Amino acid sequence: MTSLTLFDTMARRKRDFEPTDPGRVTMYVCGPTVYSYAHIGNARPAVVFDTLFRVLRRLYGADQVIYARNITDVDDKIIETARESGKPIEDITTHYADIYRADMGALGVTLPTIEPHATDHIPEMIGMVQNLVYGGHAYEADGHVLFDVASYEKYGRLSNRDLDDMIAGARVEVASYKRNPADFVLWKPAKDDEPGWESPWGRGRPGWHLECSAMSEKHLGKTIDIHGGGTDLVFPHHENEIAQSVCAHKGAPMANYWLHNGFLTMGTDKMSKSLGNVQLVHELIKDHPGEVLRYALLTAHYRAPLTWTADLLAKTRRSLDRVYGVLRRLGDVEATPGDVPAAFLEALHDDLNTPKALSELFQLAGNANKAVSDVEKARAKGELLAAASLLGLGQSDPDAWFGLTDLDPAERAKIDDLIIRRQTAREGKDWATADAVRDELNALKVQVDDGPEGSTWRKLD
Ligand SMILES: [Zn+2]
Repeated sequence: MTSLTLFDTMARRKRDFEPTDPGRVTMYVCGPTVYSYAHIGNARPAVVFDTLFRVLRRLYGADQVIYARNITDVDDKIIETARESGKPIEDITTHYADIYRADMGALGVTLPTIEPHATDHIPEMIGMVQNLVYGGHAYEADGHVLFDVASYEKYGRLSNRDLDDMIAGARVEVASYKRNPADFVLWKPAKDDEPGWESPWGRGRPGWHLECSAMSEKHLGKTIDIHGGGTDLVFPHHENEIAQSVCAHKGAPMANYWLHNGFLTMGTDKMSKSLGNVQLVHELIKDHPGEVLRYALLTAHYRAPLTWTADLLAKTRRSLDRVYGVLRRLGDVEATPGDVPAAFLEALHDDLNTPKALSELFQLAGNANKAVSDVEKARAKGELLAAASLLGLGQSDPDAWFGLTDLDPAERAKIDDLIIRRQTAREGKDWATADAVRDELNALKVQVDDGPEGSTWRKLD
């Protein structure tokens, strides 16, 4: 059995994963701010950490892994959206949180164990700020409470920056009431028409970074095993979470492993709202099965950038067609419940190497396709399904995948027969027959697409 290794951003190297308590493995991933639809770049961490969640549950037991992914439901952008639409804030946040859950569900993302909402944790956040003020790590200025970065000597360690560079950097907001330009807001005053809570510093609301520190402690503990998120969160968000939590907890580390997924790019640009090049999950799932999108997100190693193209989706669809084609051929075979094959597992255990795992999955599909005896077929199908499920793939009904569920057996058999005839004709370079059979298939509302890597087909509604 190979052990799980994970690349720890803090250590800047792969480390063997050893949870503090194998009976209670804890993971926190920064979740969405719910004021609009998630784009496919936002879905990448959800899918990556869902895959890790599956791997951890397999290793430690389904009930032994506690995964928290928060909902940020108080934020400037939410307030602005509510103002523009004239709707109450709760309507906006409930609406988009529901859509987020449904969209991620379509991508096969399992619900996390806990989904804490920021607005349900205001007393905990106020308590943490008080703790930081008493400890000399935070100060009140102009109605705000700010974290004093100079009070934490390891500030900048995660992102490998030093304080002087940060002060020179443009990303920190400079306000006159700050002692140091890199000091960040823990609590800020709320205007009368903004959501706010009474606090020792007047009516106000929490800073974004504070939310995660308070919710992570409340649900998972002072030091957790894994903290994850997109690489864009390393600085300042995670750096600030660490500063708050470590200083509030007398030096206890916030997390033992820090994991970050890479960007999703459109050509050479990062996909982002500000660049106007976003593709919304909500729209993509109208044109593609969610499983195709999930698979596409797993084609690159999670730490590498992933270039999102139409071609990637077409290729991904063909790959899944192959897997489901094999499962469909073995439709009558009862799979032997097997363990996940070693080579496949080794790939995932090597810092979640999903491209390697996907190529192993194809190997398994090939084995299942070549299996001759009933015993071999049952075992190969079992291995294929067990491996695929760790990636959150391959669990749909193969007939449904090809659009065949509502057909009577005779029509289904006729389509199968035509598909085989066409394949044989193409292999024999008998293009005239292949075209004639395609017309017959089209007449049965079966769409056939030929590509450089073979043909795909599916029954249209
Ligand atoms: Zn966070």
